[in-house]
Amino acid sequence: MYYNNDTIVYLDGAWKKASEATTGLFAQTLHYGNGVFEGIRSYGTPDGPQIFKPKEHYERLLYSAKAMHIPLSYTVHELTVLSYELLKKNNLQDAYIRPLVFQAENMALQPAPRSHLLLCAWEWEKYLGEKQVRVMTSSYQRPNPRSTHIQAKIVGHYTNSILATTEAKAAGYDEALLLDAQGYVAEGPGANFFYEKNGVLYTCPLGNILSGITRQTIFELAKDLDYVIIEKKFTPSDVYKADGAFFTGTAAEVAPIESLDGHSFNKPWQNTIGYKLAGHYQDLVRRHSTNFFQPAY
Ligand code: PMP
Repeated sequence: MYYNNDTIVYLDGAWKKASEATTGLFAQTLHYGNGVFEGIRSYGTPDGPQIFKPKEHYERLLYSAKAMHIPLSYTVHELTVLSYELLKKNNLQDAYIRPLVFQAENMALQPAPRSHLLLCAWEWEKYLGEKQVRVMTSSYQRPNPRSTHIQAKIVGHYTNSILATTEAKAAGYDEALLLDAQGYVAEGPGANFFYEKNGVLYTCPLGNILSGITRQTIFELAKDLDYVIIEKKFTPSDVYKADGAFFTGTAAEVAPIESLDGHSFNKPWQNTIGYKLAGHYQDLVRRHSTNFFQPAY
């Protein structure tokens, strides 16, 4: 699904066939989860593939690497140019780009002096699908921000996400919603969370969540469209009485939620602010605008 015999990846300065690219078994990331990554989308437009907000994604990658003391000697510009080359080499338009910075061999609990960079891409449908998802409050909390850099996109954080999604699916739901250590709603395993009540959108403040680039885009779209978003702490029982709710993320885009813990929302999705924002989000990502930076090949 992620690659076939023709797929090309970028690994440590060279373009290689995915089926022939290899890495060592003693990499620190494999053993201890000390690596950082991004999830980026490109969209087909009449002008060719446009990567959505590459600057924001690659700035976050550099921040994540720095937070984890992982050396990474690429600039945002170089990473963006390489990403467009990756799309071209794989003849991709609508694609999901996965940059992964992983650590070299080191079994000590210190960063390895060398890191590896992998860039790969594949076609990926909306992460949570098209239908409205049934969500369950997870028994797993998001990682304590005093135990890690919660705003960095760190490989090891995703063990928490995998536990939460697995638990939700085993209980018959589609996805999980995780709380912070104080019992307030934080985010989904791979997406931020918003709900609507009486014409206003609510989402939790930064502090216990990944600062989503899609979340930020929703703030920008809401401002343009005169919708109010309030950042505040809230609990699952506040959400039970909501008019609507949705997840936001690069892979999920704007994903409608049907219910939380079996409590359905008051409005049909098509009548919510989230629905309108989902439409505007699709327009934005496919529009040639200053959000995009397409370097000349
Ligand atoms: N929270 C978590 C835990 C995530 O993994 C993601 C996906 N990167 C998000 C939120 C949404 O972030 P973005 O909109 O930047 O993709």
